Amino acid sequence: MDFISATVRSRVMSRIRSQNTGPELLVRSCLHANGLRYKLHDRKLPGTPDIVFPSRRACVFVHGCFWHGCKRCKDGTRVIGSNRSYWVPKIERNRRRDRLSSKELKHLGWQVLVIWECETTNRKRIRGLVDTIKRIKPGTLRRTER
Ligand SMILES: [Zn+2]
Repeated sequence: MDFISATVRSRVMSRIRSQNTGPELLVRSCLHANGLRYKLHDRKLPGTPDIVFPSRRACVFVHGCFWHGCKRCKDGTRVIGSNRSYWVPKIERNRRRDRLSSKELKHLGWQVLVIWECETTNRKRIRGLVDTIKRIKPGTLRRTER
């Protein structure tokens, strides 16, 4: 079985946006294929998590390696030469905002899961994410819906 469809793959190549990016669609389709259902981009939550499991009180951020300054791959540590003074502080701000959102969410009782773009093609990592979410039993924690 093909790991991702051709449609998803072509979107992976073409999109450079912070929401509905290729890596995010890839993660979503894997979660969905594993029977997990979720809400998207909940603006009521700090940092607008990409994928939200309200009854489990868990959320997933799919971080683009460049935009969020991934420390474990080339994309994250790459610096755009011509505009260094623009990109370095911008990415640093993104990282700070990510840390803050995560802290606020945890404070509100949410489990915060982060998957980096460079990890989204790693089957083991995706499997691990699915298992982690499935282990969080729905409805055992206080609900926040609406
Ligand atoms: Zn990365």
